[in-house]
Amino acid sequence: MKAQSEALLIRDPVAVMSGMRGDAARLGKVDVRIRDGRIDQIGAALEPREGERVIDARSCVVYPGWVNTHHHLFQNLLKAVPAGINADLQTWLAEVPYPRLARFTPDMLRAAARLGFAELLLSGVTTCADHHYLYHANGTTETGDLLFDEAAAFGMRFVLCRGGALQAADDHPGFSKVALKPETLDQMLGDIERLKARYHEPAPDAMRRVVVAPTTPTFSLPPELLPEVARAARGMGLRLHTHLSETTHYVDFCRERFGKLPLEFVAAHEWLGPDVWFAHLVHMTPEEIELLAASGSGCSHCPVSNARLGSGIAPAPRMAAAGVPMSLGVDGVASNESGSMTHEAHFAWLVHRAAGGAAATTVEETIHWGTAGGARVLGLDAVGTLEVGKAADLVLYDTNDVRFGGFHDLAIAPVAAGEPTRVRYSIIGGRVAVEEGEIPGVDRDALLREARVLVGRLIG
Ligand SMILES: [Zn+2]
Repeated sequence: MKAQSEALLIRDPVAVMSGMRGDAARLGKVDVRIRDGRIDQIGAALEPREGERVIDARSCVVYPGWVNTHHHLFQNLLKAVPAGINADLQTWLAEVPYPRLARFTPDMLRAAARLGFAELLLSGVTTCADHHYLYHANGTTETGDLLFDEAAAFGMRFVLCRGGALQAADDHPGFSKVALKPETLDQMLGDIERLKARYHEPAPDAMRRVVVAPTTPTFSLPPELLPEVARAARGMGLRLHTHLSETTHYVDFCRERFGKLPLEFVAAHEWLGPDVWFAHLVHMTPEEIELLAASGSGCSHCPVSNARLGSGIAPAPRMAAAGVPMSLGVDGVASNESGSMTHEAHFAWLVHRAAGGAAATTVEETIHWGTAGGARVLGLDAVGTLEVGKAADLVLYDTNDVRFGGFHDLAIAPVAAGEPTRVRYSIIGGRVAVEEGEIPGVDRDALLREARVLVGRLIG
């Protein structure tokens, strides 16, 4: 585990954003006091107390830590694979991740996770939900444990979305290249029970959570097992997550095979509710959006990956207006090339305006999706906003840089200008996870050297 929670005073920042909506989004020029891992006080000109460490934030804007609700950490060793760089989702799956799944050793996964956590932290992420699907019948289940270990080493709040498949979907061009034998239902649920007993914390400020997350409901398991998996998850008090409606191909397949739109399909199999969130939801009818909103199910919006794969632009502003809990995810970086939530938020802010006009979204709304919205879909109610009593997860972006010199409104600079940003401090549950732009105890050169060697083994 990282350093212990400290008594901290974030003093004199340029501006503080709360993660909330509307007028409440901006807290202005206030100090933030942190005690026992929580936000103890927010106010103007707070005086330091004895034993308190003061962080001089004069050149910084303060944000709630980003909550990344959809990631695939193993893909951190698979950025910009040439065979997939100009491909759509189906070809990309067949060319990039799936042929290499069986080649991922636990050591490779550990290196990918370390690289991924470092990139996430240095972009301001404090909570990560990883959709981890490197499971197969004859494989090791230690990879889930390994991700929890590495998350703890980086001090990251971590949600393991335990993926995997229960059938070989030979008619899927991607899956047909997977040289892995699917697990049985007992194997999958048995491992989830084990993970739950070992790691899962139900508390609203949990550092570790387990989620039940078969990779794709339409391909990864026979439909009759979907309700069984959902009931097992609910019986264990665990949330549900999966990929849905990422491409028109996905929607067409669902319609042809099951005679239903994807949202109708999951609704018919007990996969809707406030304890469920879906990655992507790019292709949605107005009726599906209504169904989603009425059920309280959430969305992990991954606009960069959707654009990169040419999948389309999810109707995020329409979903938000309908009351769907919205969050942001960077998705696997093999289809993004960036694990930065600042980059994701910047692109989300822009792409909906390009598609729907200047009123489509605001920086404040985008920050809300990426922070409070993420905490909501993960059920981490003590996380996501800067309010007294909430978990002390916050990030200080340094604006002392030529690219921010001309700003009239520095509060929005990290999202409006996008990368590169510099996270000077990141604090997670009151523990310092990034200090003066560095991750304590992490040798960046060593991380890079290790990654280069392993990328060499994954080429071709
Ligand atoms: Zn994904």
